[in-house]
Amino acid sequence: MIDAKDYTKDQIEENIDHFIDHNEKEMLSTCCGWSALGNLHNIEGTWIGLCSKCCDHCDFEEEE
Ligand SMILES: [Zn+2]
Repeated sequence: MIDAKDYTKDQIEENIDHFIDHNEKEMLSTCCGWSALGNLHNIEGTWIGLCSKCCDHCDFEEEE
C-alpha cells in the first residue's frame, strides 16, 4: 500500500517544479524597474501601465 503522506509530499514536489517551469516573464517599468500596479495595456506594441514605485504612467518591458 502507498502511504498517503508520501504521495502528497511527492505531488507537492511536482507542483513546485511546475511552478518554476511556469515562471512567466515579469513586466517591469522602464522608469524604476518595478512591477506594474494593476493591468498593463498594449498600445501599438508598447506596454503601458502604472509603475508600482512612483505611481506614474510609463512603458513596461519584459524581463527575461
Ligand atoms: Zn517608476
